Amino acid sequence: MPLEFKQAIPIIEKIEQAGFEAYFVGGSVRDIFLNHPLHDVDIATSAFPEEVKQIFKKTVDVGIEHGTVLVLFEHEQYEVTTFRTESTYQDYRRPDEVTFVRSLEEDLKRRDFTMNALAMNLDGKIIDLFNGIEAINKKEIVAVGNPSERFNEDALRMMRGLRFSSQLNFTIEEKTKEAIKEHHALLDKISVERINIEWIKLLLGNYRNKGLLTFIETGCYQYCPGLKNKQKELTNLLLLNESLVIKSEEIAWLLLCYVLDIENTNHFLRDWKCSNKILQNVNQGMKQLKKRKLEEWSNDDLYRSGEEVVILVEEVRIILGEESTLEQVMISYEKLPIKSMKELEVNGKEVLAYLDAQPGPWLGEILSTLEEKVLNGELPNNKEKLLEQAKILRK
Ligand code: ATP
Ligand code: MG
Repeated sequence: MPLEFKQAIPIIEKIEQAGFEAYFVGGSVRDIFLNHPLHDVDIATSAFPEEVKQIFKKTVDVGIEHGTVLVLFEHEQYEVTTFRTESTYQDYRRPDEVTFVRSLEEDLKRRDFTMNALAMNLDGKIIDLFNGIEAINKKEIVAVGNPSERFNEDALRMMRGLRFSSQLNFTIEEKTKEAIKEHHALLDKISVERINIEWIKLLLGNYRNKGLLTFIETGCYQYCPGLKNKQKELTNLLLLNESLVIKSEEIAWLLLCYVLDIENTNHFLRDWKCSNKILQNVNQGMKQLKKRKLEEWSNDDLYRSGEEVVILVEEVRIILGEESTLEQVMISYEKLPIKSMKELEVNGKEVLAYLDAQPGPWLGEILSTLEEKVLNGELPNNKEKLLEQAKILRK
């Protein structure tokens, strides 16, 4: 049993001593069979949240309405969640009511895929009620129970299936895939924020083409913002070298906007509920990416883009199979005489004092001219020289 689980055994022991059941569940149990590094160890129990809180000295109510209590134990923290069924679904979204139950089987039944419906007790014994291990061995993603019903309960599960396919190199089992094809329109009912998270995980997966292909094939793309008429362009993503893994969310969005030839990136990204920072960087990045078709980075482009966007654009160019110039470009960037206006050796105040003048729009113009001349190497970044130049420009 991996160390992360061993450390958590006392938690399960204490719950059992209090007369309840407790098991390791979810992604971390699956990851043992995949030999993947574990992140969080989740525990499910028959104890109700109030009962869990009585067992442990230190707890935090992180999601008590969903049955989750955070237990702090020996400098680690564990999410302990009460067995539950999700009884009433409205609008194909998450349940509006959670029902706590005492039965592990009921809890495992409501999980999305058989590989995610495994439980392990404190002796390391696996409880596999839905042939999850067989599915893992066959590298298959299989819905628990009737796939159509499960996607009707929560349509996000379809996107989760696609992203697991991309992360794990698993195939979506035939009946489960057919149900996705049949019910793809239900994605319309799901909040964009939840779809966004799964979509990005799909794009960042090591086997993204696998997830993407099924995303296209099942028609799910038609119910994602801005993708309805982009089937052909989405297919172009499959032509990129998959072994060049997409390493960040920003890289994913810029690459997507570029390959999909998105005209109004602000509009597109806002529809996807992306942050303003992503909007800005992708917007800038698109302009530079298109410009690199025509010319190399100029000092002015490097300066105006800033380090973050320069790296972003180069990372995307690498994935696009364009010759990688990241190292070279960063050398040029480091050589810039100034990297921001703050680094200019004079500021407005000093120019005013030197010229004994009153502020006005002329001042900004002079500072921009100085900035440009320093950037182009026409002037050294030297206070005296800059002030002299300011005087000449003022005349
Ligand atoms: P990851 O390794 O990416 O965290 P995970 O399988 O742990 O994958 P989580 O989103 O952390 O995924 O969810 C934990 C567990 O909760 C899942 O393994 C699954 O059993 C269950 N689960 C999560 N979301 C859903 C859902 N929408 N429907 C049904 N079960 C779900
Ligand atoms: Mg998880």
